[in-house]
Amino acid sequence: MYMFYFGFDCDKVMYAQDKDSPVSISPDRLIDQARQCGAVRAALFDTSTLSYSREFRRLCEQNKCGHYGKNWMCPPAVGAFEELKAKAARYTCGLVFQTVHTLSHSLDRKGMRAAFVEHDRVLSRIKRLFTATYAMKDVLALGAGPCTQCPTCSAVNGSPCPYPDRAYASVESYGIDVAELVRRCEIPYHNGKNTVSYVGCILFMPDEDAHPLKTRQAVYRHEEVEPCNNPS
Ligand code: SF4
Repeated sequence: MYMFYFGFDCDKVMYAQDKDSPVSISPDRLIDQARQCGAVRAALFDTSTLSYSREFRRLCEQNKCGHYGKNWMCPPAVGAFEELKAKAARYTCGLVFQTVHTLSHSLDRKGMRAAFVEHDRVLSRIKRLFTATYAMKDVLALGAGPCTQCPTCSAVNGSPCPYPDRAYASVESYGIDVAELVRRCEIPYHNGKNTVSYVGCILFMPDEDAHPLKTRQAVYRHEEVEPCNNPS
């Protein structure tokens, strides 16, 4: 298992949105719970360490996926680069996770599509972990590509999104350098022949009064054991 803490007290993450009753959770437990939700690897990071680049938006503009301008969660509808960067920066902590899926062959498009859907399911489960189990009211869940909750996104005809609570923008649409993030976390980008790997993030807000960065230098910790079995 991979465990990393950028700017965290290694014993616990303190957070609370009810200032009278801060809740503490163990980062080890949080990562373990993310793995129980289907993540193969997970790590925690301080969002002030994220790198952003407009280049990822320019890649979206090339529209190789065909979703540019046709999805509420893709550029340009998802929002301007600076606006999304500011939105992400509101959250001080993040959990990054990876799912790994087996394909029948390297060009298995059906398998890639099924893997993408499964990754979104894992993202939904991890989001619920934060919102239900830990009662966090405000988290930002970011997925691995265009939102595919509906067969055709309602952005195509300009009608409102019917499922805003489960519509996920991608990490890249926010201009976040996800390759750099997983490299720092020592999460491998590729996981072998005939596999596809996807990365997602949950950004959240620890209680300000108890935020470990206020009282100590950022710390980094790495503990490695075997990754979880592939759930898909
Ligand atoms: S939930 Fe449906 S309408 Fe909303 S962004 Fe996703 S695909 Fe588009």
